Amino acid sequence: MGGHGVAVGIDLGTTYSCVGVWQDDRVEIIANDQGNRTTPSCVAFTETERFIGDAARNQAALNPHNTIFDSKRLIGRKFTDSTVQSDINLWPFKVVSGSANAPNIIVNYKGVEKQFSPEELSSMVLIKMKDIAEGYLGKEVKDAVVTVPAHFNDSQRQATKDAATIAGLNVLRILVEPTAAAVAYGIDKKLTSSSAGKRTVLVFDLGGGTFDVSLLTIKKDDITVLATAGDTHLGGEDFDNRLLKHFVEEFKRKHRKDISVNAKSLRKLRNACEKAKRVLSYNGMTTIDVDSLYEGIDYCTKITRARFEDLNMDLFMKCVEIVKQCLKDADMDKSWIDDVLLVGGSTRIPKVQQLLQEFFSGKELCKSINPDEAVAYGAAVKAAVLTGAKHHSIMSLVLHDVTPLSLGVEVLGKVMNIIIPRNTTIPTRKQMNYITCVDDQNAMQFLIYEGERSCSTLNNLLGQTTLYGLPPAPRGKVNVMVTFDIDANGVLHVTAECSIAGVKTNITITNDKGRLTKNAIEDMIWEAEMYKAEDEEFKRRIEAMNAFEKYAYDMRNAVKFKQMEEERTIIEAIQWVEAHRSAEADEYESRKRALRSTCSRIKVEKGN
Ligand code: AMP
Repeated sequence: MGGHGVAVGIDLGTTYSCVGVWQDDRVEIIANDQGNRTTPSCVAFTETERFIGDAARNQAALNPHNTIFDSKRLIGRKFTDSTVQSDINLWPFKVVSGSANAPNIIVNYKGVEKQFSPEELSSMVLIKMKDIAEGYLGKEVKDAVVTVPAHFNDSQRQATKDAATIAGLNVLRILVEPTAAAVAYGIDKKLTSSSAGKRTVLVFDLGGGTFDVSLLTIKKDDITVLATAGDTHLGGEDFDNRLLKHFVEEFKRKHRKDISVNAKSLRKLRNACEKAKRVLSYNGMTTIDVDSLYEGIDYCTKITRARFEDLNMDLFMKCVEIVKQCLKDADMDKSWIDDVLLVGGSTRIPKVQQLLQEFFSGKELCKSINPDEAVAYGAAVKAAVLTGAKHHSIMSLVLHDVTPLSLGVEVLGKVMNIIIPRNTTIPTRKQMNYITCVDDQNAMQFLIYEGERSCSTLNNLLGQTTLYGLPPAPRGKVNVMVTFDIDANGVLHVTAECSIAGVKTNITITNDKGRLTKNAIEDMIWEAEMYKAEDEEFKRRIEAMNAFEKYAYDMRNAVKFKQMEEERTIIEAIQWVEAHRSAEADEYESRKRALRSTCSRIKVEKGN
């Protein structure tokens, strides 16, 4: 691949996208035709043409129903997802259910109603980014590293990859955004200092639509993600919305008119809010000035930074809470963090920086990398590494992401048997040996789950596979090796193999059923903690059941045929346990005691 063309790094953001390329031993972030280094992830359709990027965004207020933004929120999701349903209420454009329950966006293009998938719309943004790069480089760009948020599941990653394919790009790697930012950070460190020790870094990524916190260790050339946390619906747009709500109410008070019924007015006001927010990062006060906002009324008003902070304080505090959660997940104290790295345009907000700095006891925050560009910067570095660029600062960079939830299979008694624990660095490969649980068992079914609960059915079922053709043998005598393999893109491949029978089955979790969203993951982790006591009881019950069953089988294998009465008692015990998989632990324990005393009584009687 190396030498045939240039590979770029693309940060396909919810609100803005950014493209970078490794050139002359450094990263160049490429400005678009408007001279902007980030490009709105926005596509618009009109009577005569299609606009992408700044041009689309600039006409949004005049054409709200056909100006599509936020397609990243829809990509790889089902129409019926609760997040999709709640997002739809916030958008001026129309989303309907397409084939296979996929969300489709309806627009009017050249006078005709058209439907587009989120993949197609994202591909249009990617085409724009590709064009920007080609315009700068003067040659065709075929290969790219594209970034996705850490909480993206397989389906979302795959859909992003599809979008790139539609855009005519070969995806060298789908890279997780905070890891990309950390690459940029790692390089930054290396180029400016000669320190070679290990550093623990917290990446605080507050963008336009999403918030991600990641804990990483950076050791020379090796970057490992220890834990991630975040909120898929927290970012600059929420701050804009708070301002918007404030001004809609103010307008109502002043003019007794509700502008929220008019999409065009709302869009105009939202744009003004976003601009005001940016100014408030540098000035204590700013003006909102919109000509003919609603029914010919010009709207001119002021807002102070203090008021802006007040309107958003709970959201800013929430960011800090999520940082706390991430540290807790990794079992880390905040004092262990060497660097706090700011990523995403919204980290320019002084209050966000202040709260974060206070939480880290006054520690200086790292702002040396432009927060809008850090992800694309890292992606560009990764693209260069993958296409064989040779520079001392990128030669041996190794990247690792982590699994957000434990992965495993269900074993007897609906027990979640973890094969890959939560927060394991990927790519990873782990194996576990399973034995048959009944005599002459000829098949073994594997239900694959993700989650933290001891009881498998309380976790998220990802898929299943069955291994047939096991040889006849007593219970526990046939071994099946199960391998969980997670590749660098986070896709899970499961293989089950019985080597003595020469049979094998496998499944790739490509997510028709759906890996979990970040919010769902957080809910599951929270629930798992809440239900700890219940889970302990569940474990005790299963252990008691297994102990009773094992004792019964051990006794059965030990008795001679002539000991008819003893054998009958044992068979009855085995039949009972097979029919009672959800009895209480005490019951299994008392039955085991009873079986033991019956067996020894029979022995004693027989001995007499
Ligand atoms: P990103 O997705 O990382 O490009 O972040 C874009 C978000 O950052 C948008 O919501 C912007 O409004 C916000 N943003 C950019 N610059 C500033 C600024 N100076 N102050 C506050 N927010 C900003």
